[in-house]
Amino acid sequence: MNGDTSNDVVVVGTGPAGLVAAHGLARLGLRVTAVGLPPPGRDTRTAALFAGSVTLLENLGVGDVFATAGEPIYGIRIIDDMGSLWRAPEVTFTAQEAGAARFGYNVPNAALTDALRAREASVSNLQIIDASITRVTPGPDCVEVELGDDRRLSARLVVGADGRQSLCRQAAGIQIRGWAYEQSAVTCTFAHQRPHGGISTEFHRVTGPFTVVPSPGTTSSLVWVERPDEAKRLAGLDEGEFRAVLEERLNGLLGPVGQIGPRGVFPLSGLTASPAGRERIALVGEAVHVIPPIGAQGLNLGLRDAASIADCVADALAVGGDIGAPGVLAAYDRMRAPDITSRVWSIDLLNRTLLSRATPVQALRGLGMHMLKSVGPLRRMAIREGLAPSFVSPRLMQPQNPELQHEVSSS
Ligand SMILES: Cc1cc2nc3c(=O)[nH]c(=O)nc-3n(C[C@H](O)[C@H](O)[C@H](O)COP(=O)(O)OP(=O)(O)OC[C@H]3O[C@@H](n4cnc5c(N)ncnc54)[C@H](O)[C@@H]3O)c2cc1C
Repeated sequence: MNGDTSNDVVVVGTGPAGLVAAHGLARLGLRVTAVGLPPPGRDTRTAALFAGSVTLLENLGVGDVFATAGEPIYGIRIIDDMGSLWRAPEVTFTAQEAGAARFGYNVPNAALTDALRAREASVSNLQIIDASITRVTPGPDCVEVELGDDRRLSARLVVGADGRQSLCRQAAGIQIRGWAYEQSAVTCTFAHQRPHGGISTEFHRVTGPFTVVPSPGTTSSLVWVERPDEAKRLAGLDEGEFRAVLEERLNGLLGPVGQIGPRGVFPLSGLTASPAGRERIALVGEAVHVIPPIGAQGLNLGLRDAASIADCVADALAVGGDIGAPGVLAAYDRMRAPDITSRVWSIDLLNRTLLSRATPVQALRGLGMHMLKSVGPLRRMAIREGLAPSFVSPRLMQPQNPELQHEVSSS
């Protein structure tokens, strides 16, 4: 192998999960290069990020993004709009009843990646390269990464954050289970007259959820799941027509709709890859799991991957070990598998219960909502586990601690 060997880690993919992994690993004193192409066009998605993700980004020095581009989320409301006989009660979970000031913040993906890119300038051992990756070749001592401009990088550990079609995953020979849903999500941000009050509202409908998430001022971001042909039609409507259908769907919740931002369409699919790492390649974010946008889980899960690989590498460094060794990747897989499996299957199940018209399924869903509405301990457990599983707490997601400081300063 004759690539540039001045890296300890190469991160392939510069979406939010890759950039966070790159910063997390650079904090350990490792020389990190992140390489990838930004998505074509501006990402129209926003992400509701919960407490652990917020702490992680604060620890990485990009917490300002919440004040400059984010909006706090104080409550999550679920409204049954299935039109079935078994109409479930409306349920609102509040951060206050969970003993927190807020659940987290809603942040545009583009603002988040911009902030992580801007932070590169103050991290001397991190560089970000905008280039395509054409080949990834694992070897016994390092992995070689070939860029579209003929440059070659090599490192003892590669973090594959290259999304759903991950080249890294293929190079490592990691198997996937993937499936498609007959659904697409229409996204945009829009202005409205009535304040959202920091409450995110998810209407459960027979074609999938219709969600409005608080954005700064009196704006909200929309994730409207429909059958693919209907989603395409909605995205193609002129602004006036789209405003009319949006207002109808909102049923007065946010008052008259004002200016509407650019719309995007995202086909929904599911994917799990196992194991999460082998052949000196660790997968993070959508390279290892893809889930439908219900309950704001995808990127929160991806950020837990990024923080967890940093933990596993820190543990290897602490004993002078090889950061890409099979044992490190096996530890990473053990750390991530229960979280990934439980999230992917619970979101898949929830989505399928929405799509099913079978009366027993609807009745069970309604019963579940009744219990969530009226049984306090169950509500609090649902809130806790909905935000993050209690068994996952990587160091970077905990308020800054002296141990972490030591790892940074001693490197
Ligand atoms: C409508 C919608 C709403 C969502 N809302 C939420 C939410 O509220 N909360 C939440 O937690 N999650 C949410 N998600 C999920 C979240 O958006 C994703 O989990 C997240 O964006 C994935 O980030 P990533 O970094 O893993 O992948 P990506 O953002 O796909 O990044 C992969 C990167 O790799 C690059 N790349 C890939 N291959 C190559 C190559 N060969 N050469 C160069 N570059 C390459 C790509 O250009 C890209 O930049 C939502 C998703 C959707 C669809």
